[in-house]
Amino acid sequence: MPELWVATGNAKKRVELERLLQPLGISLRLQSEAPQAVEVVEDCPDFAGNAAKKARALAAVVGAPAVADDSGLCVDALGGRPGVLSARYAGPDASDADRVAKLLAELRDTPDAARTARFVCSVCLVGSDGRICAAFEETCEGVIGIRPSGAGGFGYDPVFVAQPHVSTTTTFAELTAEQKDAISHRGKALRRLRSWLQAHDLT
Ligand code: IMP
Repeated sequence: MPELWVATGNAKKRVELERLLQPLGISLRLQSEAPQAVEVVEDCPDFAGNAAKKARALAAVVGAPAVADDSGLCVDALGGRPGVLSARYAGPDASDADRVAKLLAELRDTPDAARTARFVCSVCLVGSDGRICAAFEETCEGVIGIRPSGAGGFGYDPVFVAQPHVSTTTTFAELTAEQKDAISHRGKALRRLRSWLQAHDLT
């Protein structure tokens, strides 16, 4: 397979996707290079549905296989929110810092033991005809810290502490890229996709 189209408009998520798919030795083409804009309303109730929708929309525009990931943070004390709405949790124009601040405010009275959460990443690969070739979903269990810490990563990384992990206080934003990839929801899901791509011929 000479190239694979990747459906994401999130620059920081794109860096992780490129990093994790690079070992395949294929050329990754980004949604921003597509001949026309790819518009997708992420209105499915689950990550897998949204990932399939994003991958299909890109494949339809470029006429080639495409991969998409849909991911988010599910917090137990919030009944699984923000979940599939993680990117839009604090409104359409909010920043990562706004979303983190809203999350910490919502959890202000939640005791340590009840601050459990997980990141979820659903990855979907579709063929040029839109059929699903492979789909994988992985999680990373953790807890939400009391305050943000660290400057790496993106999104909710400064308040997410993976469990069990080397430290009970180190957030995702304090890990190196390699450390995060080794345990993250996206790292696990994309390694499964990598294995699949190494064993199958998409052309
Ligand atoms: P989407 O998959 O582009 O719809 O957006 C997922 C959203 O979930 C991101 O914008 C982040 O807010 C959050 N998210 C997903 N994965 C991560 C991660 O690895 N670290 C921090 N936040 C994440």
